[in-house]
Amino acid sequence: MKTKPSLIVHGGAWDIPDEAVDACNSGCQRALAAGWSILSGGGSALDAVEAAIVVLEDDPVFDAGYGSHLNLDGWVECDAIVMDGATLRAGSVAALHHVRNPIRLARKVLEQCPHMMLVGEGAERFATSHAVPLCDPKELIAESEWQAWQLCKQDEHASAHHRGHEQGTVGAVAIDSHGALFAATSTGGTCCKLPGRVGDSPLIGCGCYADSEAGGVSATGYGEAIMKIVMAKAAVDYLRHAAAEFTVAADAGPASPDANFPALLAAREAVHLLAKRTHATGGLILLDRLGNPGFAFNTPRMAYGYVAHDGSLLTSV
Ligand code: ASP
Repeated sequence: MKTKPSLIVHGGAWDIPDEAVDACNSGCQRALAAGWSILSGGGSALDAVEAAIVVLEDDPVFDAGYGSHLNLDGWVECDAIVMDGATLRAGSVAALHHVRNPIRLARKVLEQCPHMMLVGEGAERFATSHAVPLCDPKELIAESEWQAWQLCKQDEHASAHHRGHEQGTVGAVAIDSHGALFAATSTGGTCCKLPGRVGDSPLIGCGCYADSEAGGVSATGYGEAIMKIVMAKAAVDYLRHAAAEFTVAADAGPASPDANFPALLAAREAVHLLAKRTHATGGLILLDRLGNPGFAFNTPRMAYGYVAHDGSLLTSV
């Protein structure tokens, strides 16, 4: 059976300052365009989430790939994951220093590795043997992050040094015309984190989850809190419980938010749980199993976008 493709992306939930709004919007637009050109041409959801995330990783306004926040030692240290909703298999990588597009390596782990998660030096060795190029770590450092890091070193660590933000992880969820569902998340983690710190983003069920029976999720926010409630899996479980009540037909495609209540409610429930049980802030995007988009955040802003029923690319910050 043919499914109507669907795509949603995010560029992090945080206190996005006014001056970064346009850059976040345009980054999400370009990510949607990259993913949608694949999906609308009959391409795969896996290719689409990878293409969308690569655009966001390459854009220094987001905390992933090039331009990620720096760790305490002043280096970019990235994590990423992609998960297949049909098989529940994931490819996950963490603590990378030499990989420009961590999502590409996560995909290689998904497709070509007997394990589901590789970290650090072992992950980078796997990259070398699977045609994922390594780069000089200096090439991943953006000027603005370098300056912010130096201020943090001189002074006490302060979010004011980071253009008002602490976050900006990226994510994407897609369903293709064959009904395949993939979710993906990529991050540089939190600024001035201890070397070796891994947050929620690359952990199955925390920063990302996909199950074709219910839906797919990518989360963002303070990783140490998101891990406590296994937020992405919690959101998928809310979708699963809501599934019985879905009234939107499978061929209706991504709907407007008012026709899309269960997906929105599931997203809100998960963020509510985060706030209630951890008092932390964050956000998430999701697609239910029919492709209806949902999103929620309790931060001042979240950068996100999805493809509407008529094929237009909607973004918001
Ligand atoms: N969740 C990410 C982490 O803790 C940060 C973020 O989403 O901005 O590594």
